[in-house]
Amino acid sequence: MCDVCVMNAVKDRMLSRRSFFKAGAAMAAGTALGTVAAPPALAAGHGEVLDMTHVYDADFPTYFGQPGIEATQAFNFKEHGFNLFNLAVNEHTGTHVDAPLHFSADGQSVDEIPVSNLVCPLCVVDIAARAAEDPDAQVTPDDLKAWIAANGDIPDGACVAMHSGWAAKTATPEFRNADGDGKMHFPGFHVEAAQMLIEGTGAVALAVDTLSLDHGPSADFVTHYAWLPTNRYGIENLANLDKVPASGATLVVGAPAHRGGSGGPARIFAMV
Ligand SMILES: [Zn+2]
Repeated sequence: MCDVCVMNAVKDRMLSRRSFFKAGAAMAAGTALGTVAAPPALAAGHGEVLDMTHVYDADFPTYFGQPGIEATQAFNFKEHGFNLFNLAVNEHTGTHVDAPLHFSADGQSVDEIPVSNLVCPLCVVDIAARAAEDPDAQVTPDDLKAWIAANGDIPDGACVAMHSGWAAKTATPEFRNADGDGKMHFPGFHVEAAQMLIEGTGAVALAVDTLSLDHGPSADFVTHYAWLPTNRYGIENLANLDKVPASGATLVVGAPAHRGGSGGPARIFAMV
């Protein structure tokens, strides 16, 4: 094909993909006007709020194994009358957002994620029993089908979260679970599950309670590369998924707003 033909073919494919996401597009348009319709889940009312965020410091495990945050005290109360720290932070530290830009050339940066996509009906896929036997376990299309059979369709604007039981391991080497060769072993989303959500639902976020959307042994980050370039985002190291229902909670993702960021530590709540 000629260059123009290739470009048009790609454009057509992107447009047809986009039509899957009427909801996302409509919400983005709402944002541009400065108004955002409340996601349906908010209208249901909630009685309790849970913190889904791990408290983190330089000891919190990171994907690359280096400290993810360094705090330097610039002012202290005794000398200056107030406390103030300068932070050096790897964006992908602690409970954090992966913006589409993280694995794409020109996807949304973290400040560009529409706010309507940051308040999500939360769908929790529990693979903890399988992950206890197999640390390389992955969420598969069958897991999603089982969730749908039990809970109904995945709502537009949903965050689909993997509960693997890994959140309980953050203070131990089992969280990264590196073998003798340095390869890590923890659960994640199989790319076919991500594709199923992309092609068949209006879900806008994938969340995991581990260090990566892809499971630990992945060398090609195929799930990241499938999911993020569609302007959907990810959440890693989510906490407390064992305390929320499989369906019915609303996730509020306090993503950071630094311009051009590929993601960043977030304060995340679940309204139950
Ligand atoms: Zn990340």
